[in-house]
Amino acid sequence: MNHFNWRKGVLHAEGVPLTAIADAVGTPTYVYSSATLTRHFRVVSEAFGDTPHLICYSVKANSTLAILRLFSGLGGGFDIVSGGELARVRQAGGDAGKTVFAGVGKTQEEMEAALAAGILLFNVESAEELEALDAVGRRLGRRAPFALRVNPDVDARTHRYISTGLKTSKFGVPFEEAVALYARAKKMKGVRAAGLDCHIGSQLTQASPMRDALTKVAGLYRELKAQKHPLAYLDVGGGLGITYADETPPSPEEYARTVLAATKDTGAQLILEPGRALVGNAGVLLTRVLYRKKTPEKQFVVVDAGMNDLIRPALYEAHHGLQPLVKRRGKAVEVDVVGPVCESTDVLAKARPLVLPQPGELYAFMSAGAYGMSMASNYNSRPRPAEVMVDGEAWRVVRERERIEDLWRGERA
Ligand SMILES: *Cc1c(COP(=O)(O)O)cnc(C)c1O
Repeated sequence: MNHFNWRKGVLHAEGVPLTAIADAVGTPTYVYSSATLTRHFRVVSEAFGDTPHLICYSVKANSTLAILRLFSGLGGGFDIVSGGELARVRQAGGDAGKTVFAGVGKTQEEMEAALAAGILLFNVESAEELEALDAVGRRLGRRAPFALRVNPDVDARTHRYISTGLKTSKFGVPFEEAVALYARAKKMKGVRAAGLDCHIGSQLTQASPMRDALTKVAGLYRELKAQKHPLAYLDVGGGLGITYADETPPSPEEYARTVLAATKDTGAQLILEPGRALVGNAGVLLTRVLYRKKTPEKQFVVVDAGMNDLIRPALYEAHHGLQPLVKRRGKAVEVDVVGPVCESTDVLAKARPLVLPQPGELYAFMSAGAYGMSMASNYNSRPRPAEVMVDGEAWRVVRERERIEDLWRGERA
Protein backbone atom coordinates (compact mmCIF):
# COMPACT_ATOMS: atom_id res chain seq x y z
CA MET A 1 0.00 0.00 0.00
CA ASN A 2 1.19 3.52 -0.70
CA HIS A 3 -0.03 7.08 -0.39
CA PHE A 4 0.02 8.09 -4.06
CA ASN A 5 -3.61 8.69 -4.97
CA TRP A 6 -5.81 10.37 -7.52
CA ARG A 7 -7.88 13.31 -6.31
CA LYS A 8 -10.14 15.04 -8.81
CA GLY A 9 -8.06 13.69 -11.67
CA VAL A 10 -4.71 14.88 -10.29
CA LEU A 11 -2.10 12.49 -8.91
CA HIS A 12 -1.21 13.35 -5.30
CA ALA A 13 1.46 12.28 -2.86
CA GLU A 14 -0.50 12.22 0.40
CA GLY A 15 -2.21 15.65 0.44
CA VAL A 16 0.03 17.33 -2.13
CA PRO A 17 -0.72 17.51 -5.87
CA LEU A 18 2.41 16.36 -7.68
CA THR A 19 1.82 19.05 -10.29
CA ALA A 20 2.53 21.70 -7.61
CA ILE A 21 5.88 20.11 -6.83
CA ALA A 22 6.84 19.80 -10.50
CA ASP A 23 5.91 23.42 -11.14
CA ALA A 24 7.89 24.69 -8.13
CA VAL A 25 10.97 22.46 -8.32
CA GLY A 26 11.11 21.50 -11.98
CA THR A 27 11.72 18.07 -13.44
CA PRO A 28 13.10 15.46 -13.26
CA THR A 29 12.41 15.23 -9.52
CA TYR A 30 12.08 12.32 -7.13
CA VAL A 31 9.18 12.61 -4.67
CA TYR A 32 8.85 10.44 -1.57
CA SER A 33 5.89 9.93 0.75
CA SER A 34 6.92 9.91 4.40
CA ALA A 35 3.63 8.24 5.39
CA THR A 36 4.41 5.38 3.00
CA LEU A 37 7.98 5.02 4.25
CA THR A 38 6.76 4.97 7.85
CA ARG A 39 3.99 2.53 7.09
CA HIS A 40 6.29 0.08 5.32
CA PHE A 41 8.78 0.13 8.17
CA ARG A 42 6.05 -0.48 10.76
CA VAL A 43 4.29 -3.20 8.78
CA VAL A 44 7.52 -5.19 8.39
CA SER A 45 8.45 -4.71 12.03
CA GLU A 46 4.98 -5.60 13.33
CA ALA A 47 4.92 -8.75 11.21
CA PHE A 48 7.75 -10.10 13.36
CA GLY A 49 5.79 -9.41 16.53
CA ASP A 50 7.53 -10.28 19.79
CA THR A 51 10.44 -12.12 18.17
CA PRO A 52 13.57 -10.09 18.90
CA HIS A 53 14.48 -8.43 15.63
CA LEU A 54 16.27 -5.40 14.29
CA ILE A 55 15.39 -3.82 10.95
CA CYS A 56 18.63 -2.73 9.31
CA TYR A 57 17.42 -0.72 6.31
CA SER A 58 19.62 -1.45 3.31
CA VAL A 59 21.11 1.96 2.58
CA LYS A 60 22.07 1.27 -1.02
CA ALA A 61 18.40 1.15 -2.04
CA ASN A 62 18.15 4.88 -1.32
CA SER A 63 20.84 6.62 0.69
CA THR A 64 19.28 10.09 0.83
CA LEU A 65 19.84 11.62 4.27
CA ALA A 66 16.18 12.48 4.86
CA ILE A 67 15.21 8.84 4.33
CA LEU A 68 17.96 7.58 6.63
CA ARG A 69 16.86 10.12 9.25
CA LEU A 70 13.25 8.96 9.00
CA PHE A 71 14.10 5.27 9.51
CA SER A 72 16.53 6.10 12.29
CA GLY A 73 13.73 8.00 14.03
CA LEU A 74 11.57 4.86 13.85
CA GLY A 75 14.27 2.90 15.70
CA GLY A 76 15.80 1.34 12.61
CA GLY A 77 19.37 0.29 12.07
CA PHE A 78 21.22 0.14 8.77
CA ASP A 79 22.82 -2.31 6.37
CA ILE A 80 25.75 -0.64 4.63
CA VAL A 81 28.12 -1.72 1.88
CA SER A 82 30.78 1.01 2.00
CA GLY A 83 32.52 3.54 4.20
CA GLY A 84 30.62 6.22 2.32
CA GLU A 85 27.32 4.70 3.39
CA LEU A 86 28.55 4.59 7.00
CA ALA A 87 29.36 8.28 6.77
CA ARG A 88 25.87 8.96 5.42
CA VAL A 89 24.26 6.99 8.24
CA ARG A 90 26.20 9.00 10.81
CA GLN A 91 25.53 12.29 9.05
CA ALA A 92 21.81 11.49 9.21
CA GLY A 93 22.06 10.79 12.94
CA GLY A 94 21.80 7.00 12.53
CA ASP A 95 23.09 4.63 15.18
CA ALA A 96 26.38 2.93 14.26
CA GLY A 97 25.63 0.41 16.99
CA LYS A 98 22.67 -0.80 14.92
CA THR A 99 24.64 -0.94 11.66
CA VAL A 100 25.82 -4.03 9.81
CA PHE A 101 28.44 -3.91 7.07
CA ALA A 102 28.33 -6.24 4.04
CA GLY A 103 30.21 -6.32 0.74
CA VAL A 104 32.96 -8.42 -0.83
CA GLY A 105 35.50 -5.60 -1.10
CA LYS A 106 35.71 -3.73 2.21
CA THR A 107 39.06 -1.95 2.44
CA GLN A 108 41.01 -1.93 5.68
CA GLU A 109 40.36 1.83 5.93
CA GLU A 110 36.61 1.20 5.72
CA MET A 111 36.87 -1.59 8.32
CA GLU A 112 38.82 0.68 10.65
CA ALA A 113 36.28 3.47 10.40
CA ALA A 114 33.43 1.05 11.03
CA LEU A 115 35.14 -0.64 13.98
CA ALA A 116 36.04 2.72 15.52
CA ALA A 117 32.41 3.82 15.07
CA GLY A 118 31.30 0.73 16.98
CA ILE A 119 29.16 -1.01 14.38
CA LEU A 120 27.09 -4.04 15.36
CA LEU A 121 28.39 -6.57 12.84
CA PHE A 122 30.78 -7.06 9.96
CA ASN A 123 29.24 -9.44 7.46
CA VAL A 124 32.41 -11.09 6.19
CA GLU A 125 32.42 -12.53 2.68
CA SER A 126 35.76 -14.39 2.37
CA ALA A 127 38.59 -15.98 4.36
CA GLU A 128 41.03 -13.29 3.27
CA GLU A 129 38.62 -10.58 4.34
CA LEU A 130 38.35 -12.25 7.76
CA GLU A 131 42.16 -12.13 8.08
CA ALA A 132 42.15 -8.45 7.11
CA LEU A 133 39.44 -7.73 9.69
CA ASP A 134 41.48 -9.60 12.30
CA ALA A 135 44.48 -7.40 11.47
CA VAL A 136 42.36 -4.27 11.79
CA GLY A 137 40.95 -5.46 15.12
CA ARG A 138 44.39 -6.18 16.52
CA ARG A 139 45.67 -2.81 15.34
CA LEU A 140 42.82 -1.04 17.14
CA GLY A 141 43.07 -3.30 20.18
CA ARG A 142 39.53 -4.54 19.69
CA ARG A 143 37.71 -7.64 18.62
CA ALA A 144 35.62 -6.87 15.59
CA PRO A 145 32.19 -8.58 15.83
CA PHE A 146 31.57 -10.58 12.69
CA ALA A 147 29.11 -12.87 10.97
CA LEU A 148 30.08 -14.95 7.98
CA ARG A 149 27.87 -14.34 5.00
CA VAL A 150 27.31 -17.83 3.72
CA ASN A 151 26.17 -18.68 0.25
CA PRO A 152 23.39 -21.26 0.58
CA ASP A 153 23.40 -22.11 -3.15
CA VAL A 154 19.72 -21.40 -3.66
CA ASP A 155 18.20 -20.00 -6.82
CA ALA A 156 16.34 -16.86 -5.79
CA ARG A 157 14.36 -16.99 -9.04
CA THR A 158 14.76 -13.32 -9.76
CA HIS A 159 16.54 -11.40 -12.53
CA ARG A 160 20.02 -12.87 -12.97
CA TYR A 161 21.67 -9.50 -12.29
CA ILE A 162 20.18 -9.33 -8.78
CA SER A 163 20.54 -12.97 -7.77
CA THR A 164 23.31 -13.41 -5.20
CA GLY A 165 22.83 -16.81 -3.55
CA LEU A 166 24.05 -19.22 -6.20
CA LYS A 167 27.37 -21.06 -6.08
CA THR A 168 28.54 -19.08 -9.09
CA SER A 169 27.92 -15.74 -7.37
CA LYS A 170 30.74 -13.58 -6.00
CA PHE A 171 28.89 -13.14 -2.71
CA GLY A 172 29.39 -14.97 0.56
CA VAL A 173 31.48 -17.92 1.64
CA PRO A 174 30.68 -21.39 0.27
CA PHE A 175 28.32 -23.03 2.74
CA GLU A 176 30.63 -26.03 3.25
CA GLU A 177 33.58 -23.86 4.33
CA ALA A 178 31.79 -21.97 7.07
CA VAL A 179 32.39 -24.37 9.97
CA ALA A 180 36.13 -24.46 9.34
CA LEU A 181 36.31 -20.68 9.07
CA TYR A 182 34.52 -20.12 12.39
CA ALA A 183 36.98 -22.59 13.95
CA ARG A 184 39.90 -20.63 12.51
CA ALA A 185 38.39 -17.35 13.70
CA LYS A 186 38.32 -18.68 17.27
CA LYS A 187 42.13 -18.44 17.31
CA MET A 188 42.18 -14.88 16.02
CA LYS A 189 42.63 -12.06 18.54
CA GLY A 190 41.10 -9.27 16.46
CA VAL A 191 37.67 -10.73 15.73
CA ARG A 192 34.84 -12.38 17.61
CA ALA A 193 32.05 -14.44 16.07
CA ALA A 194 28.73 -12.73 16.79
CA GLY A 195 26.38 -14.04 14.15
CA LEU A 196 25.65 -15.72 10.85
CA ASP A 197 24.40 -14.00 7.70
CA CYS A 198 22.95 -14.67 4.26
CA HIS A 199 21.31 -12.66 1.49
CA ILE A 200 20.21 -14.51 -1.62
CA GLY A 201 19.06 -11.75 -3.91
CA SER A 202 16.70 -8.92 -4.55
CA GLN A 203 13.12 -8.49 -5.77
CA LEU A 204 12.21 -11.96 -4.49
CA THR A 205 8.62 -12.70 -5.39
CA GLN A 206 8.36 -16.21 -4.00
CA ALA A 207 8.67 -17.48 -0.45
CA SER A 208 10.18 -20.86 -1.32
CA PRO A 209 13.78 -19.74 -2.09
CA MET A 210 13.80 -17.78 1.18
CA ARG A 211 12.51 -20.82 3.04
CA ASP A 212 15.10 -23.12 1.45
CA ALA A 213 17.99 -20.76 2.12
CA LEU A 214 17.01 -19.90 5.68
CA THR A 215 16.34 -23.51 6.60
CA LYS A 216 19.91 -24.33 5.58
CA VAL A 217 21.36 -21.28 7.31
CA ALA A 218 19.39 -21.85 10.52
CA GLY A 219 20.67 -25.44 10.58
CA LEU A 220 24.21 -24.13 10.33
CA TYR A 221 23.49 -21.61 13.08
CA ARG A 222 22.40 -24.41 15.43
CA GLU A 223 25.48 -26.43 14.51
CA LEU A 224 27.80 -23.48 15.25
CA LYS A 225 26.04 -22.84 18.56
CA ALA A 226 26.52 -26.50 19.45
CA GLN A 227 30.23 -25.97 18.78
CA LYS A 228 30.15 -23.16 21.36
CA HIS A 229 30.59 -20.25 19.03
CA PRO A 230 29.05 -17.32 20.89
CA LEU A 231 26.62 -16.31 18.16
CA ALA A 232 23.71 -14.02 18.97
CA TYR A 233 22.51 -12.71 15.60
CA LEU A 234 21.01 -14.42 12.62
CA ASP A 235 20.98 -11.95 9.75
CA VAL A 236 18.47 -13.10 7.15
CA GLY A 237 19.35 -10.42 4.58
CA GLY A 238 16.87 -8.47 2.53
CA GLY A 239 15.36 -9.03 -0.87
CA LEU A 240 11.61 -8.97 -0.30
CA GLY A 241 10.10 -7.96 -3.63
CA ILE A 242 7.50 -5.33 -4.44
CA THR A 243 4.82 -4.94 -7.09
CA TYR A 244 6.08 -2.98 -10.09
CA ALA A 245 3.62 -4.39 -12.62
CA ASP A 246 1.75 -7.61 -11.83
CA GLU A 247 4.17 -9.37 -9.48
CA THR A 248 2.63 -10.84 -6.34
CA PRO A 249 5.47 -10.95 -3.78
CA PRO A 250 4.85 -12.40 -0.33
CA SER A 251 3.12 -9.94 2.00
CA PRO A 252 5.17 -8.78 5.00
CA GLU A 253 3.11 -11.21 7.10
CA GLU A 254 3.84 -14.16 4.81
CA TYR A 255 7.49 -13.11 4.66
CA ALA A 256 7.67 -13.01 8.46
CA ARG A 257 5.93 -16.39 8.77
CA THR A 258 8.46 -17.89 6.36
CA VAL A 259 11.46 -16.42 8.19
CA LEU A 260 10.12 -17.28 11.63
CA ALA A 261 9.26 -20.86 10.68
CA ALA A 262 12.72 -21.46 9.22
CA THR A 263 14.63 -19.89 12.11
CA LYS A 264 12.56 -21.01 15.09
CA ASP A 265 14.43 -22.67 17.97
CA THR A 266 17.67 -20.91 17.06
CA GLY A 267 17.17 -18.42 19.91
CA ALA A 268 18.86 -15.87 17.69
CA GLN A 269 18.08 -12.21 17.50
CA LEU A 270 16.99 -11.68 13.90
CA ILE A 271 18.47 -8.98 11.73
CA LEU A 272 16.43 -8.03 8.66
CA GLU A 273 17.89 -6.01 5.79
CA PRO A 274 14.96 -4.81 3.70
CA GLY A 275 15.75 -2.14 1.15
CA ARG A 276 13.37 -2.12 -1.79
CA ALA A 277 10.38 -3.28 0.30
CA LEU A 278 10.63 -0.15 2.47
CA VAL A 279 11.33 2.52 -0.13
CA GLY A 280 10.43 1.19 -3.60
CA ASN A 281 6.75 2.06 -3.66
CA ALA A 282 7.27 5.16 -1.51
CA GLY A 283 8.85 7.16 -4.33
CA VAL A 284 8.06 8.41 -7.84
CA LEU A 285 10.12 10.20 -10.46
CA LEU A 286 8.41 13.22 -12.03
CA THR A 287 9.23 14.01 -15.62
CA ARG A 288 8.00 16.37 -18.34
CA VAL A 289 7.35 15.45 -21.96
CA LEU A 290 9.68 17.20 -24.41
CA TYR A 291 8.78 15.87 -27.85
CA ARG A 292 6.94 13.20 -29.79
CA LYS A 293 8.51 11.54 -32.75
CA LYS A 294 6.86 9.12 -35.11
CA THR A 295 8.87 6.79 -37.28
CA PRO A 296 7.46 4.20 -39.67
CA GLU A 297 8.08 1.64 -36.93
CA LYS A 298 7.32 3.39 -33.69
CA GLN A 299 5.79 6.23 -31.77
CA PHE A 300 8.41 7.70 -29.45
CA VAL A 301 7.82 10.08 -26.56
CA VAL A 302 10.94 11.92 -25.40
CA VAL A 303 10.89 13.00 -21.74
CA ASP A 304 13.34 15.02 -19.63
CA ALA A 305 14.30 12.10 -17.34
CA GLY A 306 16.88 9.67 -18.64
CA MET A 307 18.70 6.50 -17.74
CA ASN A 308 21.18 8.58 -15.73
CA ASP A 309 18.27 9.52 -13.42
CA LEU A 310 16.61 6.09 -13.34
CA ILE A 311 18.80 3.29 -14.64
CA ARG A 312 16.69 0.28 -13.67
CA PRO A 313 14.98 -0.22 -17.04
CA ALA A 314 18.33 -0.08 -18.88
CA LEU A 315 20.25 -2.14 -16.33
CA TYR A 316 17.72 -4.76 -15.24
CA GLU A 317 15.06 -4.66 -17.95
CA ALA A 318 12.89 -3.34 -15.15
CA HIS A 319 9.31 -2.13 -15.48
CA HIS A 320 8.07 1.11 -13.93
CA GLY A 321 4.44 2.14 -14.13
CA LEU A 322 3.91 5.48 -15.86
CA GLN A 323 1.05 7.82 -14.92
CA PRO A 324 0.11 11.26 -16.21
CA LEU A 325 -0.11 13.73 -13.31
CA VAL A 326 -3.36 15.01 -14.79
CA LYS A 327 -5.67 12.28 -15.97
CA ARG A 328 -6.53 12.29 -19.66
CA ARG A 329 -9.24 10.69 -21.72
CA GLY A 330 -8.79 9.31 -25.18
CA LYS A 331 -7.66 6.36 -27.18
CA ALA A 332 -4.44 4.71 -26.08
CA VAL A 333 -1.62 4.22 -28.55
CA GLU A 334 1.50 2.17 -28.04
CA VAL A 335 4.53 4.34 -27.29
CA ASP A 336 8.16 3.97 -26.28
CA VAL A 337 9.03 6.55 -23.63
CA VAL A 338 12.69 7.47 -23.99
CA GLY A 339 15.12 9.81 -22.25
CA PRO A 340 17.57 12.32 -23.72
CA VAL A 341 20.69 10.22 -23.06
CA CYS A 342 22.67 9.17 -26.10
CA GLU A 343 22.31 5.42 -25.63
CA SER A 344 19.88 3.04 -27.28
CA THR A 345 19.13 1.51 -23.87
CA ASP A 346 17.75 4.83 -22.63
CA VAL A 347 14.18 3.57 -22.89
CA LEU A 348 12.27 4.12 -19.66
CA ALA A 349 9.01 2.50 -20.73
CA LYS A 350 8.68 0.20 -23.70
CA ALA A 351 5.55 -0.49 -25.77
CA ARG A 352 3.26 1.23 -23.29
CA PRO A 353 -0.37 1.97 -24.14
CA LEU A 354 -0.88 5.68 -23.37
CA VAL A 355 -3.15 8.45 -24.54
CA LEU A 356 -0.63 10.18 -26.78
CA PRO A 357 1.30 12.49 -24.43
CA GLN A 358 1.53 16.19 -25.26
CA PRO A 359 4.72 18.25 -25.07
CA GLY A 360 4.90 19.92 -21.66
CA GLU A 361 2.70 17.32 -19.99
CA LEU A 362 3.84 15.88 -16.66
CA TYR A 363 4.20 12.18 -15.86
CA ALA A 364 5.36 10.06 -12.93
CA PHE A 365 7.43 6.92 -13.13
CA MET A 366 5.97 4.91 -10.27
CA SER A 367 7.74 2.67 -7.73
CA ALA A 368 10.98 4.60 -8.22
CA GLY A 369 11.98 4.97 -4.57
CA ALA A 370 14.46 2.09 -4.58
CA TYR A 371 17.63 1.98 -6.70
CA GLY A 372 16.54 5.20 -8.38
CA MET A 373 18.34 8.21 -6.97
CA SER A 374 21.01 6.06 -5.32
CA MET A 375 22.04 4.82 -8.78
CA ALA A 376 21.70 8.17 -10.53
CA SER A 377 24.78 9.44 -12.32
CA ASN A 378 26.01 12.46 -14.26
CA TYR A 379 26.33 10.53 -17.52
CA ASN A 380 25.98 12.86 -20.51
CA SER A 381 26.87 15.64 -18.04
CA ARG A 382 23.36 15.79 -16.74
CA PRO A 383 22.90 17.25 -13.24
CA ARG A 384 21.22 14.76 -10.92
CA PRO A 385 17.56 15.34 -10.01
CA ALA A 386 16.12 17.14 -7.01
CA GLU A 387 14.40 15.16 -4.26
CA VAL A 388 11.30 16.12 -2.32
CA MET A 389 9.78 14.64 0.84
CA VAL A 390 6.05 14.92 1.34
CA ASP A 391 4.48 14.79 4.78
CA GLY A 392 0.70 15.18 4.79
CA GLU A 393 -0.11 18.54 3.21
CA ALA A 394 3.49 19.72 3.53
CA TRP A 395 6.52 19.10 1.38
CA ARG A 396 10.15 20.16 1.32
CA VAL A 397 13.17 19.80 -0.93
CA VAL A 398 15.50 17.29 0.75
CA ARG A 399 18.15 17.46 -1.97
CA GLU A 400 18.59 20.36 -4.32
CA ARG A 401 18.87 19.71 -8.00
CA GLU A 402 22.55 19.62 -8.91
CA ARG A 403 23.75 22.79 -10.52
CA ILE A 404 25.80 22.94 -13.67
CA GLU A 405 28.90 23.97 -11.65
CA ASP A 406 28.51 20.81 -9.57
CA LEU A 407 29.31 18.83 -12.68
CA TRP A 408 33.03 19.71 -12.49
CA ARG A 409 33.42 19.96 -8.72
CA GLY A 410 36.98 18.90 -7.84
CA GLU A 411 38.17 18.95 -11.43
CA ARG A 412 41.13 20.91 -12.76
CA ALA A 413 41.39 21.81 -16.41
C1 LIG B 1 21.12 -5.01 -1.56
C2 LIG B 1 21.19 -5.75 -0.27
C3 LIG B 1 20.07 -5.81 0.57
C4 LIG B 1 18.74 -5.19 0.22
O1 LIG B 1 18.12 -5.80 -0.86
P1 LIG B 1 16.61 -5.40 -1.21
O2 LIG B 1 16.28 -6.26 -2.34
O3 LIG B 1 16.63 -3.96 -1.59
O4 LIG B 1 15.79 -5.65 0.00
C5 LIG B 1 20.20 -6.45 1.78
N1 LIG B 1 21.37 -7.03 2.14
C6 LIG B 1 22.45 -7.01 1.35
C7 LIG B 1 23.69 -7.66 1.81
C8 LIG B 1 22.40 -6.37 0.13
O5 LIG B 1 23.48 -6.35 -0.66
